[in-house]
Amino acid sequence: MMTRALCIHGHFYQPPREDPLTGAVPEEIGAAPYRNWNERIHAECYRANAELGNFERISFNVGPTLFDWMARYDPKTSRQIVEQDHANVRQFGVGNAIAQAYNHAIMPLATSADKRTQVAWGIADFAHRFGRKPAGMWLPETAVDLETLAIMAEQGIAFTLLAPWQADAESIDPTEPYRVDLPGGRSIVVFFYHQGLSGRVSFDPALTSNADAFALHDLPWQYQSEKLHRGEPHLLLVATDGELYGHHQPFRDFFLAHLLKSAGPQSGILPTFPALWLREHPARRMVSIRERTSWSCHHGVTRWAADCDCTPTGSTWKAELRGALDWLAAAIDQHYIEILGPLGIDPWALRDSYIHVLLGEMRADELIREAAGKRLRAEEIRRVHTLLEAQRERQRMFTSCGWFFDDFDRIEPKNNLAYAAQATRLSYQASGVDLAPAAIERLRRVASHRSGLRGDQVFAQQLRRAEQNNCGKL
Ligand SMILES: [Zn+2]
Repeated sequence: MMTRALCIHGHFYQPPREDPLTGAVPEEIGAAPYRNWNERIHAECYRANAELGNFERISFNVGPTLFDWMARYDPKTSRQIVEQDHANVRQFGVGNAIAQAYNHAIMPLATSADKRTQVAWGIADFAHRFGRKPAGMWLPETAVDLETLAIMAEQGIAFTLLAPWQADAESIDPTEPYRVDLPGGRSIVVFFYHQGLSGRVSFDPALTSNADAFALHDLPWQYQSEKLHRGEPHLLLVATDGELYGHHQPFRDFFLAHLLKSAGPQSGILPTFPALWLREHPARRMVSIRERTSWSCHHGVTRWAADCDCTPTGSTWKAELRGALDWLAAAIDQHYIEILGPLGIDPWALRDSYIHVLLGEMRADELIREAAGKRLRAEEIRRVHTLLEAQRERQRMFTSCGWFFDDFDRIEPKNNLAYAAQATRLSYQASGVDLAPAAIERLRRVASHRSGLRGDQVFAQQLRRAEQNNCGKL
């Protein structure tokens, strides 16, 4: 009888570093001896953990944009990761990998249509890589609202993982999952991670220097004595960034392997994962959630929209960048809808399906022909395809990493503007309406407090590069 169970969830993710024009990741000096951080973190963490078989024993999600890079850079490791999930499917009938909302956008800050697209793309990407539908989905930064959960449930997602303070309750018992009732009559299960343990595993290297000591001395007293007394199975869930194991903290890939293979089981603590746990222990209790909250900002989701104490120095650029990109997105959408309407195409259903083209599962012209209610000319198909590419860039410009840090003059916010410039140029090619001057006007107010670099400068430079390369011309 498994009375004490342990689940370690790793959220494996990197900001997209690809140049939107070349698709290549630029050299990053700090990452030496590797060419860039993707390659270094891959060697220290993704490949290292795959070689140890750790992806079979933890619960995990790999961000779709990272997985896309990894599958091209090191197909062997990406196959090992999938194979380790499949080993659980063969043994238990359920797998331990879960999906992630596609572009790592902060969902409560997204439009309803964008939430739908992010969930649909995340599910399709997962199915493409793992050959099965995901039962769970990781929300970027665990940022949540009811609408997002309802959309996830509507699309077949059964559970997600959140921080305990995201429960709207005096206190919760994080050793069991909860059910959240949703608008529309559906519900979703939430696993709340153990706050103390997750925080210490993330930030106190002394705790994870010895897996035997961790299993013998640190874990046991976290289980509840009454539940143990009653012989009731219960679960400790530790959720952290996956890069912790081997990259942020060296040798923690070995810690993980030893803990879950030997040290834990020898102390009577057995590894599990949410889908397996739920099969035998359905949620018994209900809870409401605190909307617009997250795991890495204690001011709701302010970190990705305005000033807050998470990044206290000179973050006024964040609200300006959010405002400018929200404006640009709405303007691009307006042209998209206006052009697709007369062609008899549902713009949002088409965009949700466009992931199958991005994954190479079908051709763009096939998809567009299928979606149209009438015969289309080649020129019309090309125009719709260009608009869909604009939508792809417009999704990617909301990558949350662009707002995470304190300064604007970094690769993450600059990349978001490079994607925004691409979206603007593609939208112009298809609609003939140039949104760039109005976007530049708004981006003038985005400025680095360190270097003085402004958003309009980055945006205009990226536009010029795109024009010189005639990029995006389909
Ligand atoms: Zn904050």
